[in-house]
Amino acid sequence: MHFKEFKLDDKILQAIEQLGYIEPTEVQQKVIPVALSKQDILVKSKTGSGKTAAFATPLCELVDWEENKPQALVLTPTRELAVQVQEDITNIGRYKRIKGLALYGKSPFAKQKLALKQKTHIVVGTPGRVLDHMEKGTLDVSKIEYLVIDEADEMLNMGFLDQVESIIKLLPKKRTTMLFSATLSQEIKTLSGKYMNDAVSIEI
Ligand code: AMP
Repeated sequence: MHFKEFKLDDKILQAIEQLGYIEPTEVQQKVIPVALSKQDILVKSKTGSGKTAAFATPLCELVDWEENKPQALVLTPTRELAVQVQEDITNIGRYKRIKGLALYGKSPFAKQKLALKQKTHIVVGTPGRVLDHMEKGTLDVSKIEYLVIDEADEMLNMGFLDQVESIIKLLPKKRTTMLFSATLSQEIKTLSGKYMNDAVSIEI
């Protein structure tokens, strides 16, 4: 199949073409249509499967360029992954002029605070720093409609469960949630059962 079959904005298709992606990978074929219909999704897939573009593509498509406050939040276990995801979002959203911002610890808070004053569509970050910005009022989550929990198993292994739950509790209830994990442990299933509604399950 081809990316054109997803009925994406021409600006998104043009960016994907420029990245050299011809055919969507399996996880993209399964996740993109469900995400575009704004259903919650629980995805079991590994790094290297193309999972980042599987959520970055629908996020770039769905966010409203006009809105000044962040509309999507992606949580990642590490700073490196946050930067990688933010870069992928910037690439896919290039022609729609989507602004992604990465927030992570051990980096100046003030600089991130300043960046958050600019129009930002999608925030990507590690749980500790994201929660810090939410609690200090520098990250306004009132317009968040999409939440992605990336590498959820890693997040729990690193002890971020409490912070992830604190973040989720501060987000608007009416939202779409996507959870990606390489393994689906009981803990992950409990997390998804607690914070997602009738999630579609996808296993790669
Ligand atoms: P990820 O699993 O998201 O870390 O992606 C793994 C690699 O696959 C990255 O280098 C992506 O740029 C690349 N990739 C993602 N989607 C596609 C696609 N549809 N066709 C070719 N390469 C892709």
